[in-house]
Amino acid sequence: MARIVILGAGIAGHTVARYLGKWIGKQHQVIVVSPRPTWNWVPSNIWVGVGEMTEPQVSFELAPLYQKLNIDFRLAGALSIHPEGDAEHAKPFEDWRARDWPRTYQNPTYPNLFAVGIAFAPPHAISKPMKSRNGTPINPTAPRTGMPSAAMGKAVAASIRDMLKGAPAPTHTASMAEAGAVCVASTGAHLFKGSAASITVFRVVPDRDTYPQYGRDIDLTFFEVGLAGHWMKFLLHHVFIYQANLRPGWSLLPD
Ligand SMILES: Cc1cc2nc3c(=O)[nH]c(=O)nc-3n(C[C@H](O)[C@H](O)[C@H](O)COP(=O)(O)OP(=O)(O)OC[C@H]3O[C@@H](n4cnc5c(N)ncnc54)[C@H](O)[C@@H]3O)c2cc1C
Repeated sequence: MARIVILGAGIAGHTVARYLGKWIGKQHQVIVVSPRPTWNWVPSNIWVGVGEMTEPQVSFELAPLYQKLNIDFRLAGALSIHPEGDAEHAKPFEDWRARDWPRTYQNPTYPNLFAVGIAFAPPHAISKPMKSRNGTPINPTAPRTGMPSAAMGKAVAASIRDMLKGAPAPTHTASMAEAGAVCVASTGAHLFKGSAASITVFRVVPDRDTYPQYGRDIDLTFFEVGLAGHWMKFLLHHVFIYQANLRPGWSLLPD
């Protein structure tokens, strides 16, 4: 029996836990360590902050869910881990390619260690590092949004499942250099009241080999303000909380 320890139960950690619990929770020991007893849909916290929602509308207790999945939940915080980092910053920015971006999130020195969500170390800036007029360094890093966090979590859960069955290396990938991301910020939490700023990028990490001019598909990379984006935010709030809460059919919904 393998023992899998997941540190953190945020968007990425809870995604890994959901899938590993479903796929291998009966044959192997899955442990989640988190300093908070609840799961929180972080993107909707802005609505709590401005009084449009209450805390219980954006969070729920994890212990009963993990009990259903046979996951051992430890309410605690990790104090330290000691892997050598996998970020390599020695190359100049111009020498990096999109294909250098992490795909499996497996630590190259410790193959049993994976870093998903905002915990992984980006290998390079996604735009050329610059300096402001007064000399402040500007190092644009990859946006740490929820969509890639969940995609990485699901890919790593599938790789761990397959490696436990004998696969010699990770079987699933989720590279930010191949995926897009959406970020929507809305002013209201009511179905018909609200106006949202919606930003989409494809791909998250620019790929100048595929899109020489801008590094991105410019038809899928845009910023818009309006009610349609607000409806999207409203829908995502309900769908993702439904899914994270392991409601019927949760694993059929996109992450
Ligand atoms: C206001 C706001 C709005 C946002 N809106 C959007 C949006 O519209 N779309 C979008 O895609 N993204 C959005 N994001 C970003 C999104 O919330 C993050 O990308 C996402 O939460 C990252 O997931 P994660 O699991 O990597 O990290 P987190 O969600 O931060 O999870 C990390 C977990 O680790 C736990 N932890 C911390 N320390 C320890 C320790 N020592 N030991 C064990 N566990 C520990 C924490 O308690 C937490 O549960 C928004 C973020 C904010 C703040």
